[in-house]
Amino acid sequence: EMLIEVKNVSFDYPDGTPALQNIELHIPKGKVIALLGGNGAGKSTLFLHLNGILKPKEGEVCYKGEAYSYKNKDLHKLRQKVGIVFQDPDSQLFSASVYEDVSFGVVNLGIEEKIARERIERALERTGISAISQRPTHSLSYGQKKRVALAGVIAMEPEVLILDEPTAGLDPEGISEIMGLIEELQKELNISVIIATHDIDLVPLYCQYVYVLEKGTIQLEGSPEEVFSKP
Ligand code: ADP
Ligand code: ADP
Repeated sequence: EMLIEVKNVSFDYPDGTPALQNIELHIPKGKVIALLGGNGAGKSTLFLHLNGILKPKEGEVCYKGEAYSYKNKDLHKLRQKVGIVFQDPDSQLFSASVYEDVSFGVVNLGIEEKIARERIERALERTGISAISQRPTHSLSYGQKKRVALAGVIAMEPEVLILDEPTAGLDPEGISEIMGLIEELQKELNISVIIATHDIDLVPLYCQYVYVLEKGTIQLEGSPEEVFSKP
């Protein structure tokens, strides 16, 4: 089953900077997909298209076969299904406590309080931060903040989880912890995960398919074996 399809998408920023050209990308259910690319390759721009913050200049993006409408009420639903964890947790966390930060999105869904509470508790448990849920977020380590940001997105129960540089700024131990956690969540929840990274070493360990993005175009794609065996 295809969750997201990006069909022939091109995008330039209003100042004329070309960011994406003729992008074709397919996100099936239950897979971990890597998006490899250096600084300025277009990874962030592509992600902002996946959750409808940016609208392609050409082409279209589909969720379960249906093209995004870019109507507010549809975008609201889409952003529950397609969750993004940004690279810098400080850009995503702004509440007084971990619990409040993780609650933020769920509370705004307008679901019953008891159900919301259960979801929040589950997300805290799954990401291993239950014990620090009453702490002020600003007092946490960088790795802990990354978990809080992840928990807030997981609590929304997305079908597609997008992670922008999840290992950036972490030491080797922190990297294997967060990647192990992501792997566990993917299996337990049977979600699709997209990982933007410039860390090639992660790809064969955790990803089943790779897109290599360069200057706004897909230069290579395939299984890690296929992509890394190319000369
Ligand atoms: P990446 O996430 O891979 O580093 P980006 O998607 O941020 O790449 O950037 C792709 C290209 O678009 C780069 O040339 C970048 O400078 C440009 N760009 C990104 N955001 C903007 C913006 N708001 N306005 C103009 N150009 C931008
Ligand atoms: P990343 O690699 O994570 O995209 P960047 O340093 O490329 O980080 O971009 C950081 C922020 O600056 C992003 O919000 C991006 O959209 C914006 N940005 C990047 N390049 C430009 C640009 N040429 N003009 C305006 N904004 C930009």
